[in-house]
Amino acid sequence: MRASRATITTLDELSFDNRFVQSLPPDPETKNFRRQVSKACYSRVLPKPVSQPRLLAYSPELASELGLSKSLCESEDFRAVFSGNRLALGMDPYATCYGGHQFGNWAGQLGDGRAINLGEIVNKKGDRWALQLKGAGPTPYSRTADGLAVLRSSVREFLCSEAMYHLGVPTTRALSLITTGESVVRDMFYDGHPKNEPGAIVCRVAPSFTRFGNFQILSARGEKEVLKQLIDYTIQTDFPHLGEPSKKVYIKWFNEVCQKTAEMIVHWMRVGFVHGVMNTDNMSILGLTIDYGPYGWLEDYDPDWTPNTTDSGSRRYRFSHQPQIAQWNLFQLANAIHPIFENTDPLEEALHAYADFYQKGWHAMIAKKLGLKGFDPKTDETLMADLLTTLQLVETDMAIFYRGLAKMDVQPGNLNDIPDDRLLDPLRDAYYMPEQLTEEKTTQIANWLRQYQSRLCDEGSDNESRRTRMNAVNPKYVFRNYLAQLAIDKAEAGDPSMIQSLLECLRHPYDEQIDKEEYAKKRPDWARTRAGCSMLSCSS
Ligand code: AMP
Ligand code: MG
Repeated sequence: MRASRATITTLDELSFDNRFVQSLPPDPETKNFRRQVSKACYSRVLPKPVSQPRLLAYSPELASELGLSKSLCESEDFRAVFSGNRLALGMDPYATCYGGHQFGNWAGQLGDGRAINLGEIVNKKGDRWALQLKGAGPTPYSRTADGLAVLRSSVREFLCSEAMYHLGVPTTRALSLITTGESVVRDMFYDGHPKNEPGAIVCRVAPSFTRFGNFQILSARGEKEVLKQLIDYTIQTDFPHLGEPSKKVYIKWFNEVCQKTAEMIVHWMRVGFVHGVMNTDNMSILGLTIDYGPYGWLEDYDPDWTPNTTDSGSRRYRFSHQPQIAQWNLFQLANAIHPIFENTDPLEEALHAYADFYQKGWHAMIAKKLGLKGFDPKTDETLMADLLTTLQLVETDMAIFYRGLAKMDVQPGNLNDIPDDRLLDPLRDAYYMPEQLTEEKTTQIANWLRQYQSRLCDEGSDNESRRTRMNAVNPKYVFRNYLAQLAIDKAEAGDPSMIQSLLECLRHPYDEQIDKEEYAKKRPDWARTRAGCSMLSCSS
């Protein structure tokens, strides 16, 4: 294996080390038609050429991580390669086979139906990055669909991946967003109104794209040998610090998967992210946020909110349910991998540990959001429970609320002397409907603020350093649903400039950016019920 040189001038100089295809069993069939694929982890498949690739945006941080210069990213060859029109030297494209539980039910084989992996590169630091085109044409796993992606969903995936990265949330990354020049037919709300939409391709990048579903499908088919091969491969490649695979290492591995998943969910809860489709095929083995479909961001704090219209009945994937769903998904993973364990006790213990780990992580995270030096069970259990009640008394913008709390100047003294109204002043911007702030609600909120401020005083907190700590974990800018929609509307009308300006803003989500105040505003009224802003379907 040769690591890439610091700077390269053509994509043919990238160093590929395609360990996934070299280590794991391929599907012997190489023709591209839809089928069930057994005893294999992947099928070789070529991206479908497109007529007019046009680069709308790329991620400068990720490009630099991969050793790609600005001029290379802006070159014609970059467009050709990351639209699937040309294979760079060393690329060996394939789609992986996976299954999954969708909305709680086993769905059988799913697989990369519109994702084509190009191979894995090793950068100058020796880090492994798998490159994957999303929307580059059909694969053996495309079932009844076309293998393509439309501009709106690709803008959402591209910007959200990079926004999450800059927020410090574990995620797959997005290198490029390219329109193809082709039209793609979609019935956005599955209501008999199909439309032509512009096609697009995102190049996604991650250390690994392996999902819980990759293990599940092998187990469901009783392919224990291949299952063991995939587990060993995953440990050796994605968890090398655990040592060579052995009975003991398998247990450590599953514990670590539980832990990484819990950490990811804590981050989602911190920033107000709702994934929307937490099916087991959308769960990364590395605890990365993966598959940006009908996701959304909490604007007003509503724990029952889900952006996904396909899930509006049971709200299985609503904001507050995400921690339990992750555990349910881990339970399905445990079921899938148990054939290689002698007994299931360690798996059950790890699932219990997930709950403890999550709970501790959540407490520590909320404590940080509140600028406390740590979580104190004596006072903070109640403080946090009351906080969640307070956030729901009236429609309250989550991001603006926490930034507002940081602005408060807390002075020791008798908090009862400060009038309710004055206590609420730093939070005014967070309220969607000021008329909801009746005297009674104002007093309830003010009482929580007193409880909070007195906790800060007891801790001897100083305002300036608390503010800095809080602003480093409470983003000023999140990828608000309506902003995504505005950028999409403009791009569909031929002006992609808002994608660029949002990308620039979201690269610094914790900083005050004077020229980007617009993007920190709460959702305008027109966006409350508009498709794409508060409701999304799986159609993409
Ligand atoms: P998702 O809901 O995006 O996680 O997708 C579930 C499954 O459907 C995965 O196997 C996807 O690869 C597949 N899929 C989604 N959209 C398409 C499409 N346009 N063409 C082919 N397969 C798709
Ligand atoms: Mg998926």
